[in-house]
Amino acid sequence: MEISFKGKRILVTGAGQGIGRGIAIELWRAGANIVALSRTRSHLESLQSEYPSIEIVSVDIGDWAQTRQLVESLGQFDALVNNAAVACCEPFLQSTSANFNRTFDVNVKAVLNISQVVAKKMVENNIHGTIVNISSQASKAALQDHAIYSASKAALDALTRSMALELGPHGIRVNSVNPTVIMTEMAKVGWSDPVKAKEMLSKIPLRRFGEVSEVVNAVVFLLSEKSSMINGVELPIDGGFLAT
Ligand code: NDP
Repeated sequence: MEISFKGKRILVTGAGQGIGRGIAIELWRAGANIVALSRTRSHLESLQSEYPSIEIVSVDIGDWAQTRQLVESLGQFDALVNNAAVACCEPFLQSTSANFNRTFDVNVKAVLNISQVVAKKMVENNIHGTIVNISSQASKAALQDHAIYSASKAALDALTRSMALELGPHGIRVNSVNPTVIMTEMAKVGWSDPVKAKEMLSKIPLRRFGEVSEVVNAVVFLLSEKSSMINGVELPIDGGFLAT
């Protein structure tokens, strides 16, 4: 399936490493002009050293005001990938207010903030844009020690549906992908323990974790014209985990 984003300007958050980096690179390969937004400057600089035409900007998206000001200054976009997120695993009985606030600020509130700024400009400029939010299988199934993270991704799914409803009339499509474990830096925290990994693998019918490229491919499809009638879906990329 030939997909081109030639001439399109796309903002990818959390593009410093992991899945976001993979998304930024693949969209760049497909001809897009990429603005890679993330927190750690050195990660972004390493991306830019390999792909000099990728524009980089760093901010902690948990800071509403700074993020809003920065994204306002970036101009208009044809597409947005809300990928940046944090995951802090702790048992439900030990879950803290600080972790809840930080997780929801980054995983949910920042998506509202960034998407509002980007979508307003799409509407003003009559851009029939696309937005993909990176959610998780954890939004739909309870995972040990993931109470706050799961709740944040369930909130993100709800936000995806509301955005699809209210932005659809402007020709803007909003969808999410909901991956299973993908062995990035984030996943190592929760799934490096072979006992935990084995238990999770036993619940995935394909009996393996996903690859970054498998998330990237779905994101590329949902951003492209090939999915022109798909709006408001939460697409599992989970080897069948949620089907069982
Ligand atoms: P990583 O931790 O490997 O990468 C996350 C990226 O987001 C990093 O570049 C990080 O910046 C950036 N980021 C995190 N917090 C902030 C912040 N406050 N402000 C700006 N940037 C920030 O995670 P993954 O690639 O694994 O995860 C990407 C997405 O996929 C997330 O939404 C995650 O919830 C989701 N997901 C991941 C799964 C997995 O198993 N890996 C499974 C299901 C969903 P920095 O460079 O500073 O670290």
